[in-house]
Amino acid sequence: MRIDIVTLFPELCDSFLSTSILGRARAKNLFEAHCHQIRDYTKNKQRQTDDYPYGGGCGMVLYAQPIADCLREVQRQCAEQGRSRPHIVFMTAAGRPYNEAVARRLATYDSLVLVCGHYEGIDERVIEAFGDEEISIGDYVLTGGELASLVVADSVLRLQPGVLAEEKGYQEESYWDGLLEYPQYTRPEVWEGRPVPPVLLTGDHNKIDAWRGRQSRARTRQRRPDLYESWCETHPITQIPRWKRTERAQLIRTDAQLDAAAAIYSEGWMQMCRDICAPAYVEAHTPAAMREELARQRGEGWAFYLHSTADVPDGLVGVCHKTGEIGHLFVKTEARGQGIGAKLLEFAIKKLPEHPRPWLAVLDCNTGAMGLYRRMGFAPDGVRNVFDPATDPNSTRLCRELILRRCQPVSGTR
Ligand code: SAM
Repeated sequence: MRIDIVTLFPELCDSFLSTSILGRARAKNLFEAHCHQIRDYTKNKQRQTDDYPYGGGCGMVLYAQPIADCLREVQRQCAEQGRSRPHIVFMTAAGRPYNEAVARRLATYDSLVLVCGHYEGIDERVIEAFGDEEISIGDYVLTGGELASLVVADSVLRLQPGVLAEEKGYQEESYWDGLLEYPQYTRPEVWEGRPVPPVLLTGDHNKIDAWRGRQSRARTRQRRPDLYESWCETHPITQIPRWKRTERAQLIRTDAQLDAAAAIYSEGWMQMCRDICAPAYVEAHTPAAMREELARQRGEGWAFYLHSTADVPDGLVGVCHKTGEIGHLFVKTEARGQGIGAKLLEFAIKKLPEHPRPWLAVLDCNTGAMGLYRRMGFAPDGVRNVFDPATDPNSTRLCRELILRRCQPVSGTR
């Protein structure tokens, strides 16, 4: 790949591209970089690059002519090298937002030119005449396009073959697969009283991968719900994990099963509502209270199933044959991350063959559950309740209970 930066500060850009990982890769000719001084293409005696804006206003605007001539020279050089027509990007605060997907697209061009503005910006006519696109690196204004062009150059060049030691390096980083990266740790094992998560010391790569996946999804859910939502859309669960030989889900009939279910229900409910309900209200949802609730709902047509692994109860799900509702899907904290939620949801769907489009209710703040339901083919179909601290003394944060209805079948294995 060839990358050209058109700027008033070529030394600044060149020095960045000659440093550290990019510098080493450049020295090995893994990419070609050229930084061009706009001033060298001026035609006036003073080598002036800018002038007052037509129509008045503060600041100066870069002339079209030197930038155009510089771009023509880059086009000529690329043609001489037998390269395809360069893709020309103007760095502007008003451009399209930049992200990893754009970096990946730009990385596919054989030749990329980044044009840096300065002062108040660039004469619009040269952008119209030469620009293939305008990119902004964020919702803030810089004094010049140099840092922006280097952000783009760095994120694009690190994707070129051989620039990073291992391709896996960037495939596991934040944004590559639409999720934020899991937390990283290095020596020592305990730093100022803080140990590294024990799983990372086990040497069991299946366990480590599963832990990292969970961390990555949880971080994205918490920090970037927008990204998580798009990730769920593009990563449907099409294959339910196989049930282990030691796993079973049984219809709750005995008192002992009801006790176990009530304990799981209470734990899950308290975790779910801790951040949105008054503490006293949360604490009132004890296993005993939840047992009563389950018994009452059973009388109203709900059937509850207890999931256990090696005879230890660790999950719960309920179905209502009258209405086609699925509910009470909870997995004990220590059993999470093994696909039990997805298995139980698929199990519940199969228990309702008379309802082709079963539905469930979920709090919109319960992003973990929302993610599972979205990935299992459930889509929003209305709002059942709104919990508003202004009108509800038990709630501390505005939150909606959404109805999600199943629209896509999921092929499972059992
Ligand atoms: N008058 C412009 C506006 O309000 O949009 C801002 C001009 S800025 C002071 C000068 C130059 O910095 C721009 O021409 C552009 O090249 C660069 N620049 C500033 N903020 C940027 C951003 N968020 N992304 C990309 N380039 C930016």
